[in-house]
Amino acid sequence: MFGRFAHTLTRSRLTRFEEDRSTLAGLAPRMRHYIWADGRGALAEGPIDIDIGAGCFEPVEITIVFDEGYPRVPPRFFDRARRWRPDDDRHLMDNHEFCLWLARVDTPKLDTSEQFGELVLRVIAFLRDQFVFDDLGGRWPGRDWLHGGSAAYAQHALETLGVSSNESFRALWPLVLGQRLHANASCPCGSGLPYTRCHRAEVNSLRWLARLRKCERIPAAAEHQLRDAA
Ligand SMILES: [Zn+2]
Repeated sequence: MFGRFAHTLTRSRLTRFEEDRSTLAGLAPRMRHYIWADGRGALAEGPIDIDIGAGCFEPVEITIVFDEGYPRVPPRFFDRARRWRPDDDRHLMDNHEFCLWLARVDTPKLDTSEQFGELVLRVIAFLRDQFVFDDLGGRWPGRDWLHGGSAAYAQHALETLGVSSNESFRALWPLVLGQRLHANASCPCGSGLPYTRCHRAEVNSLRWLARLRKCERIPAAAEHQLRDAA
């Protein structure tokens, strides 16, 4: 979006940071927001008061880092005071960064400062879930992505294809990887329907998985998940 001269101190970039600063002030008034002097990025840090129920609020210290690629690249959120121990089950990485989305599947859009505000609200809900996690004795409340890149992408592929047997998944996977099939051929999933009226659109929407670094691990991860679900 900012082209190859992203590092220059552009007016539009500073305007966007100013807008985000006021968006953040509305949602987390105790956080402080700094724009880096060279205009390349920004940093926000401080406490957010999280409603933990029964009229109690608990301050959680976080850091938000807006790197050079922002807003094309989302900001990163960190457990600033290292309140929690890094743990896959609570979506907290070893560098104390919160794991908030699966890249390319539900990466937040940040074209406007309102969308940044929506992301902050998502983070506030995520922080509240950290307390629920403890109340549940170490179980993440609600839906989440499985650990490790291949497992999460396998989960996404299974949900998108909507298949529940490993045979169907294995039969469709080569098409995801780019193998071609005539639209009127019967769908490899075994439904008996023509490919074009069955899985073609879903397969096409997953084509980008073939470019993932560890994509060859996806079928085994999918098989594992289908076995666990059975
Ligand atoms: Zn099918």
